[in-house]
Amino acid sequence: MYPERVVSGMRPTDSLHLGHYLGSLKQWLTLQAETPCLFFVADWQALACGGANADHAQAIEKKSWDMVLDWLAAGIDPSQATLFIQSRIPEHAELHLLLSMATPLSWLQQLPSFQQQSAKLAQKDQVSYGMLGSSCLQAADTLIYRASHVPVAQDDVWHIEAMSEIARRFNHLYGKEKDFEEKSQNAVKKLGSKRAKLYLELRAEYQQEGKEDALEQAKAVLDEAQNLSMIDRERLFGYLEGSRKLILVEPEPQIVASAQLTGLDGRVMDHAYGNAINLREEKHELERKIFAMPVDPGRLHHNDAGNPAHCPVWPLHQAFSRNEACEQVLQGCLKGTLGCGECKLALSNAIALVQEPIHERAQTYLDDPSLVRAIIADGCDNARKLAQETMRDVREAVGLSYSL
Ligand code: SF4
Repeated sequence: MYPERVVSGMRPTDSLHLGHYLGSLKQWLTLQAETPCLFFVADWQALACGGANADHAQAIEKKSWDMVLDWLAAGIDPSQATLFIQSRIPEHAELHLLLSMATPLSWLQQLPSFQQQSAKLAQKDQVSYGMLGSSCLQAADTLIYRASHVPVAQDDVWHIEAMSEIARRFNHLYGKEKDFEEKSQNAVKKLGSKRAKLYLELRAEYQQEGKEDALEQAKAVLDEAQNLSMIDRERLFGYLEGSRKLILVEPEPQIVASAQLTGLDGRVMDHAYGNAINLREEKHELERKIFAMPVDPGRLHHNDAGNPAHCPVWPLHQAFSRNEACEQVLQGCLKGTLGCGECKLALSNAIALVQEPIHERAQTYLDDPSLVRAIIADGCDNARKLAQETMRDVREAVGLSYSL
């Protein structure tokens, strides 16, 4: 019914590191080439989860611009994807407010994200209303664009299930349209007699016998009907499944490989551990960091046989070096014929090769930061038009579409 659309956001953080590149940006690069994508800076989310604190708040704007520059440097292409900043689209906040009124408190309290965040805070009064509602805000961020898919790692599918539950609840509460039955029957007539007959038969099969394939066939009938207005189409999709109009679209998870990159010390790469290699690390700093890495503690002398499984350099080779180079490192380490210095130099060169085009693209935007602002201004305009369309339907559904 609605076009395929992928929505994904990132909270502004300290400069992006190679873990962000492998874990998110590479998936975005693939997605932007396949499907219309909206990528946003989740700055309100950062405030909701980072706590109310003036220093934290002051840093968000700079971090947001830096992060967008990192996206562009990584190859995110504004001609393929819409890039915008969440707080520049006030409709997110409006939908969040309305969703928060329709979502049971107990649902939000039970969500793993809230339980984990609140458990980390020592004092109860640090758990804010915004933190509890951040899942509603995340749902609003996605539902407002009627996203068909949200990229997510398998372990995080529950985020998308929570969004879908919030959307379903909202549709259930507000999807009842006055004279829905009569309006739907009128819309059926607009399908033409043959298609209308087929649609009604398939609807009956689905509703009376629960046949999922009948539901899919009926949706295909609607997809083929060119002469329906958007509103009649929405009605007939809702009429298939019951007597309610579909206002918010439940997104599907698009499972992406979760690639948690190992940091310089063998733990997951994270600025909080001080073990990260920045996406745009300068070459001399990259070399310094890699040459300071610990190695297999069992390898005391140059010619000792080592075990890459005990060395944090190895997973970085696996992530950034070519297969043949990995094989040489593996064999050289196991046999004790490859020195750790040589191994680290090869890793540093492999990462530098990946970073070379990233630095080149970044330079264009560093030379002229107005380009980044113009991209975001365009993206905000485009995103806002989509958000406004959804909010028009949402306001109408909740009875707040004042015509002044
Ligand atoms: Fe680690 Fe490479 Fe040294 Fe083996 S040769 S211990 S993988 S740095």
